Amino acid sequence: MQYSRYVHLFYVGNDVVALYHALLVRTVFITYTEAQQLDFYFKTNDIDSDAILETIQYLYVNCYIVVNADEDNKLYNKCIELISPPAISNAYIVVTENCNFNCKYCFISNAVQHAGETKVMTNEVARQTVKLLQKTYERQQTSYDKTITFYGGEPLLNFDVICFFMDEVNRIKEKYYWPSDMKYALITNGFLLTKDILKALQGYGITLSISYDVDKESHAQRIDKNGNNSYEVVREKIGLCHEMGIPFSLSITISEVLLSRKNEVLTEILKLSPATIVFNLLIPNTQRLKNEHYYEDATDFMIQAFIRLRGIGLYEDRIMRKVRAFSENKMHLYDCCAGGGNQYVITPDGKIGICHGYLNNRKYFSSSIYDVDFDFRTQVDYLYWKKRTPLLMKQCQECECLSICGGGCPYAADYMYGSIYELDTRFCIHAKKVLDWMIKDLYYQVVNKRKNSLNGNSV
Ligand code: SF4
Ligand code: SF4
Repeated sequence: MQYSRYVHLFYVGNDVVALYHALLVRTVFITYTEAQQLDFYFKTNDIDSDAILETIQYLYVNCYIVVNADEDNKLYNKCIELISPPAISNAYIVVTENCNFNCKYCFISNAVQHAGETKVMTNEVARQTVKLLQKTYERQQTSYDKTITFYGGEPLLNFDVICFFMDEVNRIKEKYYWPSDMKYALITNGFLLTKDILKALQGYGITLSISYDVDKESHAQRIDKNGNNSYEVVREKIGLCHEMGIPFSLSITISEVLLSRKNEVLTEILKLSPATIVFNLLIPNTQRLKNEHYYEDATDFMIQAFIRLRGIGLYEDRIMRKVRAFSENKMHLYDCCAGGGNQYVITPDGKIGICHGYLNNRKYFSSSIYDVDFDFRTQVDYLYWKKRTPLLMKQCQECECLSICGGGCPYAADYMYGSIYELDTRFCIHAKKVLDWMIKDLYYQVVNKRKNSLNGNSV
């Protein structure tokens, strides 16, 4: 007998060891003494106490220990069979590549800044895009979450086309198949929001995500075309959402400045009461790659924020995805929809790509909404992205985060090391820290629950 090769040991304190099964996303806590007895048993095949026999049986039945590597191989093959075939889960509709801002950390700034190409979507392209989506969803008909996200540049610079698109969806779904659980979202810098736009968004059922870095100094990188901090104006627009009772989420970029003001930022988030928040890690550039501490510090902040905000029922999406997978013992195979080839990005001129990061250079944008034979399930770029999950990547097989990290951002891996099949190493730092925290947090929750029930308190 031996530990499964997927089992990793974490010392959680108080003489307790967590055995974490990286493939099955399961944790069991044993005492340090039990861990030593297990080691003794693995080495000698002798059991030095009857009490450990029960533990051994439990660990074997639940795959924490195995007779030999073959048992692990079989388990791995079973997990591979559980990987669902690709299905379009998110579609970014880039209604314009123009922007009214010049954010200093914009990761698609090349696309937004360069001139001379078709940068604004027309009604005709929007109509053809709706047709493509209808055909796609009709073919795939899965229970996957499905979202259409209006994106830019700044999408509100072409709000008419968003309205046209939604009218077209409403028209088409009277006659043809359209998923009833479809969600619609808009990611905006907020500057152009008006009462009329907010009402229209509400009418169409489009949820609002505002990119806003919460306090004035952190937000100072979000400048308008004249170099002015857009903080006051966007703050006013958030006030308008409050006034009209329109829920919004905040998309917050963790810059180095924001990290230096984390307490102010957290206090401010609580005041703004968004429906949800998502923190964005900075996409690497040469300077950031030199600052090795950035990703550790950013992750510490995200965990600290998660702990504080969950107290009021507000969950940050990026950590929550992993917490959900961890608590439900589910594999989290992709951390974004591009991984696995589950995403469309439609450019203003009707090109189909997988990841919006490549709007800069149009890599993996080799199809068009006008190709009558286009089927993402057989298209060469989608086939290439399909296997981009840690579960199928050699470098990840011995990692404790195998089934929980989702592999980070393939675009960042390509940016840093030249291929989406390289590791997004900055994300590995993040994922490992989050897993370590989740295991310790689970232990303390179990202990507290036990204490409370011994004291007769309800939990
Ligand atoms: S690969 Fe990276 S940039 Fe592209 S969609 Fe995924 S997370 Fe975003
Ligand atoms: S991507 Fe990084 S953190 Fe995730 S499994 Fe692979 S090596 Fe581990």
